[in-house]
Formats: sequence, C-alpha cells, structure tokens
Amino acid sequence: MKTCPTCDSAEFKTLIRFDSAHFQYCTECAVISIDHHTDYTKQGCTAKLPDYATEIIDSLQAGFNELIVEVGCNDGALLSMMKDRRYTNLLGIDPSQRCGKISTGVTIENIYLDQRSAGRILKKHGSASVVICRHVVEHATDPNEFLRAISTILKPDGMLILETPNSDGILRELRCHELWKQHRHLFNVRNLTRLVEKHGFSLSRHTIRSTTTENIILWAKLFRCPETSLCESFESRWKAYRSKLLNLSESWKRPVVCIGAGHPQEDFVRYTGLSVDIFIDDDIKKVGKSLLGKPIINTDMLTKPGTILRTAFGYPDWMDEVCGAFPGVEVVNVYKGVE
Ligand SMILES: [Zn+2]
Repeated sequence: MKTCPTCDSAEFKTLIRFDSAHFQYCTECAVISIDHHTDYTKQGCTAKLPDYATEIIDSLQAGFNELIVEVGCNDGALLSMMKDRRYTNLLGIDPSQRCGKISTGVTIENIYLDQRSAGRILKKHGSASVVICRHVVEHATDPNEFLRAISTILKPDGMLILETPNSDGILRELRCHELWKQHRHLFNVRNLTRLVEKHGFSLSRHTIRSTTTENIILWAKLFRCPETSLCESFESRWKAYRSKLLNLSESWKRPVVCIGAGHPQEDFVRYTGLSVDIFIDDDIKKVGKSLLGKPIINTDMLTKPGTILRTAFGYPDWMDEVCGAFPGVEVVNVYKGVE
C-alpha cells in the first residue's frame, strides 16, 4: 500500500492527471507524489549554479579540513567553488556516470545514496560535518531511505543543507510545467520540516529562493538522541563487561560470597554467569533457604569468606559493614570499571 513518506497516511487524492501522469497529494500533509521510475546513471550534468550558491557556502559552519559531502553533486561545480574557498576535504556523490568522469579535482563517488552505500561511504571517507543536497530529495523513490542514508554519513551534530522545489509555489501560481514526472515527491516547508524531523534533524532555519522555480532551502542539524545511542551500545558494552568480570573471577578466592539474596542478586548472578558459593541476607524468611542452588545465610553466620561481592545494590552501609567485618578479604565492587 502506498503511504505518504512524511506522515505515513495512506489517504491520497488526485491533484491532477496530465495524460498518463497521475499526480496525487496526501490529504493529511499535502506531499505531492507520482509513481515514476528514472535511471539517473545515464543522466547528463547540466546543472547551473544559482546566484545564491555563494550564500550556501558562506553558511557552512565547518572547519576547512572537515568532511563536506554534496549528494547529487552533478559535475562538482559547487564543490569546486568550495575548494576555491579553501575547503580541502570534499566529496561528491552522484549516480550519473558522466558526472564521475568530469574532472573538477574533487572526488566523486558514482553511486545512488542509500543505506548500503552510506555505510561504505562512512567506512571509506569517515563521517561528514555537513551534507549539502540540492534538488535531489524530490527525485528519491523513498525519501525516508534517502534521509536515513544522509543521517548515516553525518556526524552526530552534523548539518544538512537541503534544497528542493517548493510545492506551495507551484500550486499557488498554477505552474503546471513544474509538475515533472522525475519529481517523485514535492514538498512545502511544513511537510519537508516534518520529514527531516522524522530522521532526527531539528530545523535551524529555512529560506525561500527563486531560480526558474521557487525553492526551499533548509538548514537542519542532526540530533542523535543520547538515550538511543546508549541503547545501541548496551549489548556490546554488557558483553565486554561480563567477559572482563568472568576473567577476573577466575582468580577470586573461595568461597565467593554475594551480599543479598533477592531478585537483583539472583538476576545479577544469572546474567553474568558468575559462580558464587554463598548468599548472605538478614531477612529471616530467606535464611536457611537456597538461591540458585546455593545456601542463604545471615551476616552472623558468615565466618570465612574468600571473596565478597558488593551486590547489595542500593545498600552501601550494609555492604560496608559486612566487608569491614573481614579485613584483608578481597572485596569486589562489581560494577566498578564499567566502560
Ligand atoms: Zn502526508
């Protein structure tokens, strides 16, 4: 089922039909779309830079050595201008084979930008401080995939400069000649902002500038949610921590004593896979029973620990008391040194 790339609605109405071209609009957010396929690998490079190209370069907030990528760079004219302005770390991406052959002294990768190629670009060139993308997003079959790919090659706080025709201008002035089949989606400021925000960008500013069309240029900063990045790294960090702890445990003297015999201790021992010998707990309902097949005793019954694990999470005073009663015994602060 066809859905709107911006708002995910499946409700479309006909905007207009010109012969076989059926332009539709999303009834929820007004994105205009048409189903059409174009092979851009054979396209020529005829783009002419607008007068405001220098303003785009002036707006770059990047050091001269930081990576700046232009997606849909054509023959690299804008990149060449940047090179003349002392930017040294420039990369163009364009699927057109002809563009790749034109020498501008700037590296051009002849590819479609998608999630897969973005991973390769990232590996080969590192992450970009700025991605410039002029008049490409409207050609993308899947604008969401395209923006995901852009966010992949950008640094966590990188800037996207995105330019695309303004659909409001086309509709307002009945500019039917701008309803071009190659433009799979046409956006206005509102739904374009909504689209980039879906991909973790926050809008810094936008402007409307005219060439042969009325264009939106927006500057949006990528903001990767720190909570998400913690989620993404959790499993690998946990595995590294667990393996470190298990290695350390091989040198621990027996018996290994866990402080506490509740569910946090049970889960901790199960998840880490540590081999412990005794649980101590002062809750009389637990004493005399067992946990994970090991005896539960109270503090007074503990006579000769080999190693004490500080596992009474949230009860530092009790742990200090237990550990203090056995000077010289190795005490392990289990979460110490977590990276
Ligand atoms: Zn929509």
